[in-house]
Amino acid sequence: MTAALTSISAPAAWQRELAAAFTDPRALLAHLGLGEGELAGALAAAADFPMRAPRPYVARIVPGDPADPLLRQILPIAAELAPAPGFVADPLVEQTGARPGLLHKYRSRALVILRGGCAINCRYCFRRHFPYGEHALGPAEIEEIARYVAARPEINEVILSGGDPLLAKDAALASLVDALAAAPQLRRLRIHTRLPITIPSRITAGLVDLLARAPWPTVIVFHVNHPRELDDAVDAACRRLRAAGVTLLNQSVLLRGVNDDARVLAALSERLFDAGILPYYLHLLDRVAGAAHFEVDEGRARALMAELLAALPGFLVPKLVREVAGEPSKVPLDLRLTP
Ligand SMILES: *Cc1c(COP(=O)(O)O)cnc(C)c1O
Ligand code: SF4
Repeated sequence: MTAALTSISAPAAWQRELAAAFTDPRALLAHLGLGEGELAGALAAAADFPMRAPRPYVARIVPGDPADPLLRQILPIAAELAPAPGFVADPLVEQTGARPGLLHKYRSRALVILRGGCAINCRYCFRRHFPYGEHALGPAEIEEIARYVAARPEINEVILSGGDPLLAKDAALASLVDALAAAPQLRRLRIHTRLPITIPSRITAGLVDLLARAPWPTVIVFHVNHPRELDDAVDAACRRLRAAGVTLLNQSVLLRGVNDDARVLAALSERLFDAGILPYYLHLLDRVAGAAHFEVDEGRARALMAELLAALPGFLVPKLVREVAGEPSKVPLDLRLTP
């Protein structure tokens, strides 16, 4: 076989890691030395929303600890199936009236759902019931989106989201960038992704080159909830991105049993800074069915923010926000209010 043919047919390292992800709770529990006690709940909850956990992420979980904050984000548990009033399938009402592949909710930013699926299934995900399957945008839909953006001078930023947009191959990302280059008013391209954390090898030389050559500055918004999600491989991926001039930000979700502790949140901000990533948002949980056991109440969230403000420089304190259907932006919580 010629070298050219090999490069076409052989999956990249990140694609092999994607295929090798844990999807069977039984295999994951055995790998982590956890007992059968967790298994029945895990199997039942995984039938509702499948388990998916790539090995580079699983390698950061402490074996033998069922309460590990990284494990808690990915292991299905029986609590997901308990009915919880107010927790619904589509908390942000995104499933009604959505244009295929595009959400234009905020005036200046258009959000493109480039890929439906994710490399990891986070148990608290507000899109856990989103009916997009493994849907990927085809060339005709990409052209349609580019036309929509070009026709609206108020849109100055396109956000690639999902699902995880970096599950798309570089060629698909490149054709989207090319299509959007026809919109003269665009000032930024933003990518919301968890792949640099879950499978750091996704940050290939080819991808970095594509971002460096895009006609606008690019921003990557990571999704990290706990400092232990960062390791040497993530640091190296961040260095490659920063060398290409990409701005790195992070959003977290405030999650009970994961990061509802001021010391953990402060350590997260410090660890992000070490990797060259600035904290952006700390989201209150969207009230999606199956995630009620992760909720932290507003009073506790404000108290945690007060501790963070006292512990960190202002630029390492994320904005505490929630998403409210129908509002013109994410809604910051007023920290002066007492519960
Ligand atoms: C969160 C979000 C954005 C981006 O909002 P920023 O506050 O600019 O980060 C854009 N579109 C949709 C639909 C969103 O949910
Ligand atoms: S990476 Fe984001 S979109 Fe994907 S499952 Fe996790 S929270 Fe949901």
